[in-house]
Amino acid sequence: MKRNPREEFVKDIKNRSKVKKIYPLFFYQKCDKCGMEFRRETMYEYETPSLVFENVRCYTRGCTECYPTFSQFENEMKSKTEKNIATYLDWKDGKILVPDL
Ligand SMILES: [Zn+2]
Repeated sequence: MKRNPREEFVKDIKNRSKVKKIYPLFFYQKCDKCGMEFRRETMYEYETPSLVFENVRCYTRGCTECYPTFSQFENEMKSKTEKNIATYLDWKDGKILVPDL
């Protein structure tokens, strides 16, 4: 039996990431794309574990103006995570010196 630690790492991060709809009631939440703050409006939130630090979670939020559909937000976040993981693993393996995240 053999397995690829790279694939296992990607699978683990993907399993621990989630996308959901949020509805901020009292506090303004910032959209990470346009930089505007929203409240009492539907927003999307993407939660993913930090690649470098244990027990640290990263949140990315998006508004419905930047992402008209939920799946659009979901796809963009997933492709972004895939790119970040690939860069991180290349950096960890010593293939690149300075990660450009
Ligand atoms: Zn926005």
